[in-house]
Amino acid sequence: MTIELINTGSELMLGRVLNTHQQWLCARLADLGYMVNRQVAVPDTAIDIEQAVREGLSRADLVITTGGLGPTCDDITRERIAGLLGLSLHRNASVEAQIHAYFISRGRPIPLRTHVEAMIPEGAVVLPNRHGTAPGIAIQVSPNPFRHDGRPSWLVMLPGPPRELRPLFDTEVAPLIQRLFPAVDGFACRTLKTTGLGESAMEELIAGPLKHLTDQGMDLGFCARVGEVDVRFVARGLQADALVAEAEFITQRWVGPHIFGAQDDILESVVVNALAARGQTLALAESCTGGHIANRITNIPGASAVLTAGFVTYANAAKITALGVPESTLRDHGAVSEQTARAMADGARKAGSADWAISVTGIAGPSGATLGKPVGTVFIGIASDHGTEVFHQINAFDRETFKYLTAQQALSRLLRRIQAGGTA
Ligand code: ATP
Repeated sequence: MTIELINTGSELMLGRVLNTHQQWLCARLADLGYMVNRQVAVPDTAIDIEQAVREGLSRADLVITTGGLGPTCDDITRERIAGLLGLSLHRNASVEAQIHAYFISRGRPIPLRTHVEAMIPEGAVVLPNRHGTAPGIAIQVSPNPFRHDGRPSWLVMLPGPPRELRPLFDTEVAPLIQRLFPAVDGFACRTLKTTGLGESAMEELIAGPLKHLTDQGMDLGFCARVGEVDVRFVARGLQADALVAEAEFITQRWVGPHIFGAQDDILESVVVNALAARGQTLALAESCTGGHIANRITNIPGASAVLTAGFVTYANAAKITALGVPESTLRDHGAVSEQTARAMADGARKAGSADWAISVTGIAGPSGATLGKPVGTVFIGIASDHGTEVFHQINAFDRETFKYLTAQQALSRLLRRIQAGGTA
């Protein structure tokens, strides 16, 4: 089975928007056992969209387009594709009702132009969009005039906004593809999410123990991100599930404490869920991360059951008044020190009446280095009623990466302590 992906949007070609659909859809399809053979991004112009779709349909069993289903004048994908396939567009009453309900439930007036989103090509399958207004559309192109042998292809159009496209793909498109193109032989794909080890160190630890599985054809892959490494196992054939399950078991044995989740898990979500499952709470004292950890925690549904308080104490005076850090600690050891991190964590735990506290204090740079404390120096405190530990890291990166990585290290340290101790 061949799949081609066409991402439409002039903003992609102007470099204003990162094409995350390419990465996300390819990963999702790979998880289901399908490989995208070709991907192209084109601007929102009729000629480019038509040419890309015509070419895609001349080769692929499935063509997926993203973007251009909205109501504005540059949203022309639906119309151009219908024109290319010689299909007329018809107003779909149930899509129209859903669009009206979307606006009414939010107390917003219904813009005139939104009615174009209810225009569906004849014979197409509507893929309901529960997070927006423009539905996805699937069309069986049969016979396919662009294929030399006329064999049919499917064409799926998805809306551009990621928060609409992703759930729509999972709930509507994935089942459709699995029904239309069932896997012929076994396929298994599993990604373990790890933190605390670089990809080379990870490979050194697990490649040997997994060799008998890679010798049998299982693919072992690594994907390094900031403060994280994904370890991916892919196998095909009747033994696929068994090979991947054994790989996971072995990897757990060798680097278990570094594994925080699987597939699409994110660290902050695992932390929130681990705390919630134990009925425990967390307070934060952030200096150099400026509230970044609090932001990540509060992005997770259910955070309110877990996070009691987040203090962004940038100035020394705030560390003293909000967290009770002794003036003498700051004077004798400095704001960026093990002692201050310890006092911040203890102070946040007390002031936030929480079971756990994280503190971070460091030098994000580019200035601020002192003798023995280079740019990137950071101290991370983890406090509980079993005591307070402080970890020293040097994260010499740009400020944004510094904040993300420091948060990553703090959350993974906390998670390991939660999992090791069980109680605060
Ligand atoms: P809308 O109703 O919002 O107009 P649409 O289906 O017409 O939806 P576009 O207008 O093409 O979609 O894109 C809407 C937004 O979705 C863009 O502003 C952009 O932020 C995001 N987006 C579009 N394509 C991509 C992509 N390939 N990767 C990441 N984000 C994208």
